[in-house]
Amino acid sequence: MLTMKPILSPSSLSTISPLFPKFLLSPSPHHTHQTLILPTIKTPKFPILRRPFCSYKSSMEALRSARSGEVHVIIGPMFAGKTTALLRRVQSESDNGRNIAIIKSDKDSRYGLDSIVTHDGAKLPCWALPDLSSFRQKIGKDAYNKIDVIGIDEAQFFEDLYDFCCKAADYDGKTVIVAGLDGDYLRRRFGSVLDIIPLADSVTKLTARCEICGKRAFFTLRKTTETKTELIGGADVYMPVCRQHYVNGQVAVEAARTVLESKNVDFDTCIEIK
Ligand SMILES: [Zn+2]
Repeated sequence: MLTMKPILSPSSLSTISPLFPKFLLSPSPHHTHQTLILPTIKTPKFPILRRPFCSYKSSMEALRSARSGEVHVIIGPMFAGKTTALLRRVQSESDNGRNIAIIKSDKDSRYGLDSIVTHDGAKLPCWALPDLSSFRQKIGKDAYNKIDVIGIDEAQFFEDLYDFCCKAADYDGKTVIVAGLDGDYLRRRFGSVLDIIPLADSVTKLTARCEICGKRAFFTLRKTTETKTELIGGADVYMPVCRQHYVNGQVAVEAARTVLESKNVDFDTCIEIK
């Protein structure tokens, strides 16, 4: 289990902005260095780091308002390690003393709603929300102002992704790290993830391994005949595939669907694809 590290130590301030007054970088005699502000996964209700330097409040707010935000986007098919990459980057920001919060969609409850979990077992507390616009209200204005970095997982489920990223980065000075599917099982745009590419400082497209041949996989193949765009599932429903096996798999699934429809069979069927 990962735990959060110290926040906003004086040494970290120098890396935040060269404009930060030097005298404020000296530790205050009235404040000891405090650590571990973010609750661990056992107490996930308020997954925000609390800054202990109360006497620096006005200076810190001025500093934050002067900071420029950033948007970083991590895309790719399922099983490409997007959540792992997101958590690693957020953890790294936390290690550098920045206050972090993670948001995921409440639509995906496969691993519980109060934490975010990767395939390799890494786990962090998070906010599970129906939309991003409710985040600020949910945590409160003061808590929101203290956050430096916002991680968003399964971003394809948030319709207000563009507006949220715009405001958070452009006006609130936040670093926003977004992970999500760029395409659905038909390789069409999924949600608003592609819309924020023009907002992004960086875009990383990750790949998985083709489940059939082991080559690099760029696409997500749905193994069932279900046709609705949003179908939450794991390896039972989806598999990462290379281009060749995506095309072959789609042909197999389409053929199965045609057979089922011709027989008036109205149920979802999992296709064995080789
Ligand atoms: Zn393949």
